[in-house]
Amino acid sequence: MVPVIAACERWERETRGWRPFDTSDRARVISGNSMNGRVLVLNASYEPINVCNERRAIVMIFKGVARVEEHNGHVLHAAKMSIHAPSVIRLTEYIHIPFKNRSLSRKNILLRDHSTCQYCGKQLPPSELTLDHVHPRSRGGESTWDNLVACCKRCNHRKGSRTPEEAKMHLVRRPRGFSHHVNRQIMRYLGRADETWRKYLYYESDDAAN
Ligand SMILES: [Zn+2]
Repeated sequence: MVPVIAACERWERETRGWRPFDTSDRARVISGNSMNGRVLVLNASYEPINVCNERRAIVMIFKGVARVEEHNGHVLHAAKMSIHAPSVIRLTEYIHIPFKNRSLSRKNILLRDHSTCQYCGKQLPPSELTLDHVHPRSRGGESTWDNLVACCKRCNHRKGSRTPEEAKMHLVRRPRGFSHHVNRQIMRYLGRADETWRKYLYYESDDAAN
């Protein structure tokens, strides 16, 4: 934690007097790197709340709204300095998150379903998956978290505008509405290769429920 904070302070010193001088300018200077690595965002209470990219995380650190909890081992190079890339950051102030507003998107549904067709169980690249309305849209099925599932094109074609029962196709898992639990599942999936995320995403209560 210390190296990044020290680097940020040095960065502030070195660039003092620059105008205009907002966080986006500061972030742009470090843009020699892609800075697209994923960073887990914790609330001040250590509750995992989101995932962002390194660029966004560094802007949040510069703004003072977040602090680094873990590094991913990479070093980001700027003109005059290098900083250790964060892998987990924590907000300095607690914010209340209205989870029910979490955006319903193709990307989020595919993440919830782990890029796995919910009928045949095949895990596929996102480009080979589509979204299926479990209760068909043509018959009043809504586009909601609990009526949409990841589906391969073959199964989607086979099912057509029938219900799973009519098509005799069984869901691997009933689609779940959005909740704190689903949100954490999505973050676990995104961070499955990142050891530094584990201690923040796995709790006994969750593991017992799985
Ligand atoms: Zn399928």
